[in-house]
Amino acid sequence: MLKIEPNKNLTRLTTLQIGAPAEFFAVIKSREDLDEAIVWAKKNKKTIWILGGGSNVLISKKIVGLVLKNEIRGMAIKKEGATTAIVEAKSGESWIRFVNFTVEHNLSGLENLFLIYGTVGAAPVQNIGAYGVELKDVFYSLTAIDLKTGCERIFKPADCRFGYRDSIFKNKLKGRYFIYSVAVKLSKKPSLKLDYGSLREKLAEQGIKKPSLKDVVAAIAEIRNSKLPNPGTLPNAGSFFKNIETSLAIYKKLLKKYPGLPFWPVSAARVKIPAGWLIENAGFKGKKFGSVGMHDKQALILVNYGGASAKQAGALVKKVKAAVKKKFGLDLEEEVNII
Ligand SMILES: Cc1cc2nc3c(=O)[nH]c(=O)nc-3n(C[C@H](O)[C@H](O)[C@H](O)COP(=O)(O)OP(=O)(O)OC[C@H]3O[C@@H](n4cnc5c(N)ncnc54)[C@H](O)[C@@H]3O)c2cc1C
Repeated sequence: MLKIEPNKNLTRLTTLQIGAPAEFFAVIKSREDLDEAIVWAKKNKKTIWILGGGSNVLISKKIVGLVLKNEIRGMAIKKEGATTAIVEAKSGESWIRFVNFTVEHNLSGLENLFLIYGTVGAAPVQNIGAYGVELKDVFYSLTAIDLKTGCERIFKPADCRFGYRDSIFKNKLKGRYFIYSVAVKLSKKPSLKLDYGSLREKLAEQGIKKPSLKDVVAAIAEIRNSKLPNPGTLPNAGSFFKNIETSLAIYKKLLKKYPGLPFWPVSAARVKIPAGWLIENAGFKGKKFGSVGMHDKQALILVNYGGASAKQAGALVKKVKAAVKKKFGLDLEEEVNII
């Protein structure tokens, strides 16, 4: 029988180590647990909110309703063709273990997404991405459970409306579905994406001309470990803000004032500007404000130096947004879900 705890503090269940209580809380380890939770929530007129690894949330106030901590695990190769394989994982599986599993089976497609924290089920919510690859590039389908009716629905790529750190699960269907399992279509022959600057440089530095799948994973691990703070020692939620997409015309105007302003082309008329550069050049890199600050190696990451409150984090978020707006006229948007 499902154990439902009242008034559970969620702080320790987030990588930022900032939290508040959940009115009700339960850990779910199976489909039966989930079904039981849905029945309980209906009977008690409570809404359900899902927590995975807590690596993309800032919980700023008490969550009214039932919080489900997803620990439904398992993964398997579902189907194999001559050149591709469909691999599926349950949503409470660790994303890092999932990528490891695919690499161990010599399947290519997820290697650039190695070492991203959290669960498989959260990956489609924000279409996780890193080093030139996004989940959508290999996404095959997902199975989701309607939290109101308990009915199952299959989502194919077009149904998910994937965008940059975005999907239908952050917008129209926010809070409606529990993502139960995710399937990806991977290649049996290495189809490596090595265009991303720092990845190319790392492989060159190591003298690797023809990298294997395992070389790419090792290079990604080295880059990430050297640049990103480990939440186990310095609590954080990864990039706090999204990079900013704007028109080429606005970019050119800014470039005149700020020579060296980096960008990536998005289309003939649009570019993306790295939010980390903007925050650094607004003077926040390595700056501390009491128990919170922006990281000294990557200004995009808000860190908790110990015992920070949601209020302190919120105040810093406001300060950073206002400074970037004032200096560059651009609006930062949070990548982290503020609850
Ligand atoms: C050091 C660090 C580095 C990171 N680097 C990257 C990176 O390179 N690229 C990147 O994209 N992200 C990165 N992240 C962010 C984070 O790892 C991802 O967003 C991850 O997918 C979040 O998974 P989670 O299980 O922790 O989600 P949570 O934080 O628990 O939840 C995030 C959101 O998804 C919802 N959700 C979770 N599970 C489900 C489900 N089963 N069904 C429906 N909704 C669900 C939650 O309700 C919440 O709204 C990084 C984070 C850290 C701490």
